[in-house]
Amino acid sequence: TLSDRLADTFKNLRGKGRLSEADIDATAREIRIALLEADVALPVVKEFVGAVKERARSEEVSGALNPAQQIIKIVHEELVTILGGETRRLRYAKSGPTVIMLAGLQGAGKTTLAAKLALWLKDQDKTPMLVAADLQRPNAVQQLQVNGDRVGVPVFAPEPGNGTGNPVEVARASIEEAKRRLHDVVIIDTAGRLGVDQTLMQQAADIRDAVQPDEVLFVVDAMIGQDAVTTAQAFLDGVGYDGVVLTKLDGDARGGAALSIRSITGKPVMFASSGEKMTDFDLFHPDRMASRILDMGDMLTLIEQAEKAFDSEQALKAAEKLGTKGGFTLEDFLQQMMQIRKLGSMTKIMGMLPGMGQFRDQLENFDEREIDRIQAIIQSMTPAERENPKIIDGSRRARIAKGSGRQVSDVNQLVDRFFEARKMMESMARGGGMPGMPGMPG
Ligand code: GDP
Ligand code: MG
Repeated sequence: TLSDRLADTFKNLRGKGRLSEADIDATAREIRIALLEADVALPVVKEFVGAVKERARSEEVSGALNPAQQIIKIVHEELVTILGGETRRLRYAKSGPTVIMLAGLQGAGKTTLAAKLALWLKDQDKTPMLVAADLQRPNAVQQLQVNGDRVGVPVFAPEPGNGTGNPVEVARASIEEAKRRLHDVVIIDTAGRLGVDQTLMQQAADIRDAVQPDEVLFVVDAMIGQDAVTTAQAFLDGVGYDGVVLTKLDGDARGGAALSIRSITGKPVMFASSGEKMTDFDLFHPDRMASRILDMGDMLTLIEQAEKAFDSEQALKAAEKLGTKGGFTLEDFLQQMMQIRKLGSMTKIMGMLPGMGQFRDQLENFDEREIDRIQAIIQSMTPAERENPKIIDGSRRARIAKGSGRQVSDVNQLVDRFFEARKMMESMARGGGMPGMPGMPG
């Protein structure tokens, strides 16, 4: 996926102190491939990569961020920009019902979306009405009625007097009905074809002219990739629209379609639909989508976890203990190891986390099983030994080795490492701040 490729790209940057021209070029190349593979249209890719490159070159090398973080930040910000920046909200009519018309190919998800949108509006104290203006497919009207029932929103359907068989008449009649019944929003579901065709376009344009919608929304399946752009352009020329709704975002689509459509048509993506449930629907948030494309959401969670695990309070507590009786013990050492272990699964991205750059090398060489061994050895010690490791002489070492199923040399190594860690803790207590990870196995 796009996210995976970008992640690989960023990984290569992690060891670097600053971005060289060659780094920027190489990264730009990777981003370009990643975007093309995600079905983002070529002109959009070019524009995007150009913008990222220029910024990467011109920006000051940040003291707070390493090069990978810096590139991530730039890419994220450029993604937000290309996705439209701010969330575009619905415009309601100043008087009378707000008319929203849906257009798009068959199977795009219009009928499903109509009901989702109705529910979303209802939750905001609107009184929407759905209109079945798709008279093409045999079951289209019934499908909308079923969906309308699910969300508790009335459906205006053709019947004698409403313009049977003529979607334009049905749509026109629905507005009058909405006024009579004081519905404040009308959502018109229209027919789609499997491909772009002139009859379909003309029908949609006729409905548009008849009802003068406040918003025409182009509904598009995010999973169709490059075709989304062609279709979006065809509907823009044939019917015109104010905003875009991306559906089926629960599939593999990671936003390639969204990136292309917004920047090629200039129309904002307004809503995102992401599943079979009626509540799988929300305003489209460019920043969230950008995070999703970059997988930043996961990363932010990990940053939180990392911060918790590396809680400076913990370090402080350990340092404080040095001033009290007993000092830093093997028990504390074990606790520290367990904390590091919590970070085990995150080692991959450690270099990207703020402030974690200094632990990067240690964590990259970090072996989780090492902690298991350390734990086994410490647990084979008596409380007195853990409290005061100085008493661990030759015979005790032999006993501990036997008890933990390790070699005496392993025990020796651990004890040495402990004393080393203790020395670091002591200097830390004196000087303040965290130096490296004390006693980190490596
Ligand atoms: P329409 O022809 O444009 O009216 O499209 P429909 O609303 O009938 O949807 C076509 C198919 O896509 C149906 O099987 C829907 O259940 C499904 N569908 C619609 N929206 C979504 C979505 O957001 N996620 C998933 N997974 N399926 C969807
Ligand atoms: Mg439909």
